[in-house]
Amino acid sequence: MSDVLRVQWTIIARTAPQPWLTCGRCGETRRFRSSDKIRVNANGKRVDAWLIYKCTDCGSTWNRPVLERRPVRTIDPGFLTALHTSEPMLTRRLAFDVESLRRSAGRVEEFDDAIVVKSVPSKSTMPARRLEILCSVPEPVGLRVDRLIANELRLSRSRIQRLAEAGDLVVFPSVSSLRRPVRDGMRLVLGRL
Ligand SMILES: [Zn+2]
Repeated sequence: MSDVLRVQWTIIARTAPQPWLTCGRCGETRRFRSSDKIRVNANGKRVDAWLIYKCTDCGSTWNRPVLERRPVRTIDPGFLTALHTSEPMLTRRLAFDVESLRRSAGRVEEFDDAIVVKSVPSKSTMPARRLEILCSVPEPVGLRVDRLIANELRLSRSRIQRLAEAGDLVVFPSVSSLRRPVRDGMRLVLGRL
C-alpha cells in the first residue's frame, strides 16, 4: 500500500524541429520544414539519400543528407525500401533527430506543441498524498517542464514555482531550471496538492 499515485504521461511532439537556413530565393534566413519526402540517388554501387525540407516562406528546397555515397551492399534492404517509399515512420524519426539536424543545419528551432497521453499503471486504494509522473518522450520536444505541469494540472506558473521552492515539486534527474524541456524518463514528484 502506498499513498503515492503513479501515473505515466506520454508526450508526443506534434511539430518536428525546424532549421533556420539562408534561403537563396528569399535572400534571407528562413525557417525550413520537413516535406516528409526522401530523395534517393543510386549511382552505380553507391547510394545518396536526402530528406527534403522546404522554406516556410517560398517553398525553396534544402536537401538534408541522410546517406552519402554509401555502398549499396552495406544498406539493409528494408531500410532502402523505406527510403525509396519515404516511409512515414522513417521520415518522422529523421525529422525528430535534432542532434543530426543540428550537425547539418546549425541553428534549429524546437517546438512545444505536444499531445499528452495519460495512463495510470497501478491504482492505489488509499487516498493519494503525492503524485508521481513518469514522463515518456519518444522524440525530443521543446516543451518546458513548468509549462507541461501548468497545462496538464491546470496550475499557475507562480504556484508551480512556489511548490518547487517548498520542495513539493521535485524533478528526477534534477534539472537546473523548470524551464528546461521535458525529457524521456524524467520523473516529476508532487506533494501537498
Ligand atoms: Zn524562401
